[in-house]
Amino acid sequence: MIHFENVYKRYPNGREALSGVSFALARGEMAFLTGPSGAGKSTLLKLIALIERPTRGSVLVNSRNTARISRRRIPGFRRRIGVVFQDHKLLYDRSVFENVALPLVIAGFGQRETGRRVRAALDQVGLLGREQHAPVTLSTGEQQRVGIARAVASRPDVVIADEPTGNLDPELSLEIMRLLGRFNEVGVTLLIASHDLKLVDALGQRRIRLVAGQITSDSPAPDPPTRIA
Ligand code: ADP
Repeated sequence: MIHFENVYKRYPNGREALSGVSFALARGEMAFLTGPSGAGKSTLLKLIALIERPTRGSVLVNSRNTARISRRRIPGFRRRIGVVFQDHKLLYDRSVFENVALPLVIAGFGQRETGRRVRAALDQVGLLGREQHAPVTLSTGEQQRVGIARAVASRPDVVIADEPTGNLDPELSLEIMRLLGRFNEVGVTLLIASHDLKLVDALGQRRIRLVAGQITSDSPAPDPPTRIA
């Protein structure tokens, strides 16, 4: 599902964020990407979503070599990938419904299908009753759940999350991780970057550790994997 083969990423300023990264995540698998700030976690996720391109090496997502995806085809490719950000990037002048609907509208879904998908996604994150609310009236944890609903509304095969609990207290962090884990249980391939080792360890899943652009360890989930939902 996701396959990195000897991937390097050097930014135009000369900074090498990834140096020879290889790993694979099978369809329906979940893993945490850990490592200190600056290790290259965000960069690795950006290569999956085609926000950045590798300098060298290959990145396969959904069995497609991302190097062969032209700029024109990126929007279609991204529809299969849900992205959750730390600061959830909600639009504060739009309702909860409009925030979750926006990517679907851009993708060209009709009004009825958009409405169906938005309500299904909000239901999955427990916010069905809040469709018409403004994001500012929601708690931080609820706002992050709206961000998750937006990421899954297009029913992606892959969800990547970049420090999704960065601003949340431990209890809410666990709740958000459990919520993400539930999507994995229904078959979504899930990769979550987090520097919160305590939280990640408690969840008992596969951990890929990145330090200075290189994978320094890759520990499988305990057998049988702990269910986090
Ligand atoms: P992490 O998510 O683990 O904190 P990042 O992928 O954000 O790590 O960053 C890895 C390295 O790449 C850091 O040294 C960072 O300064 C650098 N970097 C990230 N994005 C850019 C960019 N757009 N241009 C130049 N350097 C960058």
